[in-house]
Amino acid sequence: MQNRIYIKDLKDNIGNHSTSSGQKEIIIAGWVDVRRDQGKMVFFDMRDVTGKVQCVALPSRAEVIEKAKEIRSEWVLKITGLVNNRPEKNIKVGVLNGGVELEVTGIEVLSEAQDLPFDLDTEVNLDTYLDYLPFKLRTERAKDIFKMQASILDAYRNSLQQQGFTEFIAPALVGGDAEGGAAAFKVDYFNDHTAFLATSPQFYKQIMVGPFERAFTVAKIFRAEKSATTRHLSEATCIDFEMGFIENEREPMAVLEQVIRDVVQIVKEKHSDIFSHFNTTLPLLPNEIPILTLKEVHDILGVEHAPDMDPEHERNICEWAKKEKGSDFVFITRYPTKKRAFYTYEDPKEAPYSRGFDLLFRGLEINSGAQRIHNYDMLVAKIKERGMDPNKFSYYLQAFKYGMPPHGGSSTGLERFTARMLELPNVKEATSFPRDMTRIDSRLSE
Ligand code: ATP
Ligand code: MG
Repeated sequence: MQNRIYIKDLKDNIGNHSTSSGQKEIIIAGWVDVRRDQGKMVFFDMRDVTGKVQCVALPSRAEVIEKAKEIRSEWVLKITGLVNNRPEKNIKVGVLNGGVELEVTGIEVLSEAQDLPFDLDTEVNLDTYLDYLPFKLRTERAKDIFKMQASILDAYRNSLQQQGFTEFIAPALVGGDAEGGAAAFKVDYFNDHTAFLATSPQFYKQIMVGPFERAFTVAKIFRAEKSATTRHLSEATCIDFEMGFIENEREPMAVLEQVIRDVVQIVKEKHSDIFSHFNTTLPLLPNEIPILTLKEVHDILGVEHAPDMDPEHERNICEWAKKEKGSDFVFITRYPTKKRAFYTYEDPKEAPYSRGFDLLFRGLEINSGAQRIHNYDMLVAKIKERGMDPNKFSYYLQAFKYGMPPHGGSSTGLERFTARMLELPNVKEATSFPRDMTRIDSRLSE
């Protein structure tokens, strides 16, 4: 739109006397937020992507006031007006445009809105929120969440690039299931061949160690999770990296730690306001993220040794790390090899524990990683040991057949990372268009 200015820039146009005849008219466009009639005047707030401003229609402008009386919340308008200072008593300190208002000289209706199911800012339960997502995504809360997510993703990418990683695009249609177990969605299309939606870009990022040594991808993963939880989606976004020539899993852990540091630094610089809107703080990140073995976790929590952690243990050990180590992040290592994916490396001296690790953040696993098996024969043996057919993995195995360095990497769930950053109780709120067992946009029960 020609000559449109953003609402955040209005204060630079106060009493802008560009001609001798008077003030300069400016143009804004956006949505009507709320309308308030006061005596003969009509007040309404206009909202665009940058913020809000109070507009006032004066009775002296007959055409304007007639139109102003018709408009309703969420109508889309193009407005011409004059930016005035507010009377002293009406100034709102510390609020965008708290010192100015727009005297409306013209209203053009670009689009009308039907009656709303509820006011935009009405608090509703999660299901209703998701039912009305195309509308509710316009709230400040949702905008904050996805602004934060965009910054996390951007900072994550930049950090990996800085650390020498090359980005590639992983396929979402695959011939087999990477994890050899994780529930995959079957695709009926390729005649006699079974295809699936990828549960992970794992195989492809390992193959990319061949050309790039250090490779990463931002990939959609699809998991037919069989239960509805606050941390599982059917479709999620993973930031996956893989790197060659490592000595052990500590090297990918160090890369990941640097990424976390860079992400926290960026959100600190850009989004201190968002943290305060959500009543939370910047994550605590000491000089070193604490590293505990699974055994140490169970000892600290005073619970029986077990091959894995349940959600309650994840929460409790994070509480401990926060209190004792001043960290909202904690690494867990030395899971039993049999509990990890088949390609996870186990050093004979460390058996039966693997070189896998998880990163927990504010009570939840947000990342899993490992050193991987790089030896062809060992990998084939592992596949057989798990009761799978190496022939089904021949494409992946080609990378190993023709020489693969020791390597490892990790995978972060973007929605979980975002959810914990703002302490959102459900990962679905950190997903712009969540899919789970019960919903693809609309509820599946309907
Ligand atoms: P969990 O045990 O919590 O179900 P996982 O160990 O199966 O997760 P991984 O295979 O390690 O998950 O995937 C790497 C990361 O991807 C996880 O740490 C998580 O952040 C994210 N992730 C995996 N599955 C999902 C899902 N269904 N919904 C949202 N994020 C997921
Ligand atoms: Mg995991």
